Amino acid sequence: MVVQNSPTSQTTPASLPPSVFTLPQTAQLEALFTIIRDKDTSRGDFLFYSDRIIRLLVEEGLNHLPVLPKTVTTPTGSTYEGVGFEGKICGVSILRAGEAMEAGLREVCRSVRIGKILIQRDEETAQAKLFYSKFPADIAQRYVLLLDPMLATGGSAIKAVEVLKEHNVPEERIIFINLIASPEGLKNFCTKFPQTRVITGWIDQGLNEKAYIIPGLGDFGERRYCL
Ligand code: URA
Repeated sequence: MVVQNSPTSQTTPASLPPSVFTLPQTAQLEALFTIIRDKDTSRGDFLFYSDRIIRLLVEEGLNHLPVLPKTVTTPTGSTYEGVGFEGKICGVSILRAGEAMEAGLREVCRSVRIGKILIQRDEETAQAKLFYSKFPADIAQRYVLLLDPMLATGGSAIKAVEVLKEHNVPEERIIFINLIASPEGLKNFCTKFPQTRVITGWIDQGLNEKAYIIPGLGDFGERRYCL
């Protein structure tokens, strides 16, 4: 019998799809976001504080995985009826910003397998196009934590889930983890894949004309990788 976890994350208001979960919107979390949103934050601090948020998100994503009953004997000789992990997981990062989330996943899940997917906008069609993907051979048997820090229009994430589905990963076995989401991106993504859970740190106001999230934090990759 599979026992479903009861996630600690907040279900989002009625105006948002039921598959969307935010981290608890605490003052601590808001303080972390305030640091990484600040344009004057140094790269070192951006790395440190975005890593803290990523770790919270990964832990929250794992809360959505099923567990099985498991009984152990403790050093006192007592029996403890607990639960154990059910099923294997892997991470899939959407390049290149998603790679920033891999370390956070590895800190929590030692020796986790990680796949990669590169999606870029096709300048001729303006559609998201797959350029590269590499997944564990048995990905169809795993739960997939899909990693991309910013959910803006949703184009890349939608394409990524389409590719995962082509590799026979059921949509309900995918958990999409991001730091900041736009309402537009959430709507686009969840309309297409209502069974894929989305774990996000914060839902922002919207998108500007260049498809940046507002207020957002600018270009995540640039903030993280550029000196
Ligand atoms: N990607 C980013 O890095 N930032 C945004 O605001 C949107 C997409």
